Amino acid sequence: MARVGLVDSPRFEDHLTAECPERPARVPAIRRTLDEQGLLDRLTSVSPGPVDGELLRRIHSDAYVQEVLRFCAEGGGLLDDGDTIVSTASAEVAMLAAGGGVAAVEQVMSGTLDRAFALVRPPGHHAMPDRAMGFCLFNNVALMAERARQLGARRVMILDWDVHHANGTQAAFADRDDVFVLSWHQSGLWPYSGAVSEEGTGAGTGTTLNLPMTRGSGDAAYWQTWQELVVPAAERFQPDLLLLSAGFDAHWRDPLADIQLSVPGYARMAQALVTLAESLTQGRLVAVLEGGYDLQGLRHAAAATIRQLLDADGTAIDPLGLSPRGTVKEADNLIRTVRTQHAWFRD
Ligand SMILES: [Zn+2]
Repeated sequence: MARVGLVDSPRFEDHLTAECPERPARVPAIRRTLDEQGLLDRLTSVSPGPVDGELLRRIHSDAYVQEVLRFCAEGGGLLDDGDTIVSTASAEVAMLAAGGGVAAVEQVMSGTLDRAFALVRPPGHHAMPDRAMGFCLFNNVALMAERARQLGARRVMILDWDVHHANGTQAAFADRDDVFVLSWHQSGLWPYSGAVSEEGTGAGTGTTLNLPMTRGSGDAAYWQTWQELVVPAAERFQPDLLLLSAGFDAHWRDPLADIQLSVPGYARMAQALVTLAESLTQGRLVAVLEGGYDLQGLRHAAAATIRQLLDADGTAIDPLGLSPRGTVKEADNLIRTVRTQHAWFRD
């Protein structure tokens, strides 16, 4: 049986965000569902410690890190000009979130664990090198990739199925060819970046792949991109580690978006991710929580994903069913565009 880690701590509920949809209740909702489904006892608990300061400054500027620490110490409030609210404890909790993801990577790279899921908040994938954005303070998955590189992974591939573009993660690695950043997201949704033409720069040209999905896309459209684009891209890149930015706001119940994935849809992709890791990375795979704002969609999709990390048998417990609105089933136009225009595919 696979040894699967779960990074978890009650401290993740101490990052208080007032009326923000990215709220403390998200984490215990998932934890409770894992317990109800008998999964919690099968996971190896990983306790997070704060992220190493030197590592943190490989992704974020020292001025920004100091600003977050100072702003929280002074009581918090609205940290950026958008929607990132922080409380007194938030800087410390964000360092634990990043440190938790990094600890999971360390244990998977050393072979202590086969796979892991970091059940952390605040999320990270919108955090830019020098500013907070979209409920994110520090870019957890970018720090995890950077740590894996330090530990000897030559190439790291980040898949991001959160419904919003992984703009912060893309910014961290746009000019590098050692970290591949692949983001599915709803086309035309905040933060409005993530076109197919954003394919990386300089040495990193081709190792950024954006898949802007049509509004209303469902399981079948995502699965088509998985088979026709994601697997070939990964097989060509030959990563030593797969990382998943696991947002669950593409579930059909989510209030912030209009992508119509179901819980079994997530389970199928998670199962395929485990298979991909088995064939390319000796099974090494670490997921980290990003968004997901409907507690029902979030907790069941997250549990279904973690179930696949444990068993990879395709089973999903889904009391929510499929989207009642119907779904866009094909991604033919997007796949054609990527194949003819994107640097990783066109030559
Ligand atoms: Zn999101």
